[in-house]
Amino acid sequence: MIKQRIIVAGGAGYIGSHVCVELLSGGASLLIIDNFANSHPEAINRIKELAGAKVDLLQADLADPSQRKNIVDTVKRFQPTGGIHLAGLKAVGESVAEPARYYRINMGSALTMAEALEAAGAKMLVFSSSATVYGEENENPVAETGAASPTNPYGRTKYFIECMLKDIAEADPHWRIINLRYFNPVGAHPSGRIGENPNGVPNNLFPYIAQVAVGKREMLNIFGNDYPTKDGTGVRDYIHVCDLAKGHAAALRYLDQQENGCALDMNLGTGAGYSVLEAVAAFKRASNRDIPYAFAPRRDGDVAEIFANAELAENLLDWRAQKSLEDMCADHWRWQSQNPDGYET
Ligand code: UDP
Repeated sequence: MIKQRIIVAGGAGYIGSHVCVELLSGGASLLIIDNFANSHPEAINRIKELAGAKVDLLQADLADPSQRKNIVDTVKRFQPTGGIHLAGLKAVGESVAEPARYYRINMGSALTMAEALEAAGAKMLVFSSSATVYGEENENPVAETGAASPTNPYGRTKYFIECMLKDIAEADPHWRIINLRYFNPVGAHPSGRIGENPNGVPNNLFPYIAQVAVGKREMLNIFGNDYPTKDGTGVRDYIHVCDLAKGHAAALRYLDQQENGCALDMNLGTGAGYSVLEAVAAFKRASNRDIPYAFAPRRDGDVAEIFANAELAENLLDWRAQKSLEDMCADHWRWQSQNPDGYET
């Protein structure tokens, strides 16, 4: 295998930073493209520190047409072997309020990424998709063959990008693409040096719990305790972000070995579902802090229960998640307690 030279779009973000450390540790060279819209430049320093390696950085907005030429030229000069696309907006509620912005930024940046790789002659791409592409009607565990019917504009941008990439691969069999459908990424690098750094009030469960545990927020609202689940609260497939990062490295290795073009959808999850109350109890044990909570009405658009069938990734990539819910909580807590204000600490 020739040495991997990978463009990582969105490499300074929560998942991107863990992917970068994993790839660098495996010997790859990276060009990170990020505009720091929802990430912090300090993440780049921490990536370098953890991997003991240098990275190239292009601070640019993939969705801005006036920056397109410079991005394509820089990507060509880097002579990549492939790319990972994680750049985009990700807040469900915001996507409902500002759909046009979500379509413009998420679709536009994915398209520029594909075009830049094509111009560089590196038709290999791993796309950061999401389990939100699945509708409510699928039975658990959900396989990739499950029906796609996202319930909000954010989820639709993920689904439409998947469709766009499949069209591109269909038209040109040199393209090798995997759409990774993440379940619920949580946790942080065990060093406590990189982790999730949410802007404002966290939307997601783990960063919210972590901020309650560290004393930044008074209590957790649990959205719904009347779901038809084991204890009435929502059930999700939480996956450690380092397992997820390893899944990206495995996806690149797999694509590198393919002689024919392909465009595959692939779940990355553990296959196990935990309820909100189970997650709270596990975090309480890991942090040894109290986590006050109250039950609140269901949140619009939430499904009762979803967890992955992760057999495709196991069969094709020889990858499976290794880390437990306890690991996820312990590592998330280490990051939160050592960096109470994220990278601004
Ligand atoms: N959740 C909650 N309180 C919060 C945030 C989330 O009870 O402050 C619940 C939510 O209803 C769902 C689970 O936690 O059942 C995971 O939500 P998250 O937003 O983390 O992920 P997603 O909805 O994308 O699966």
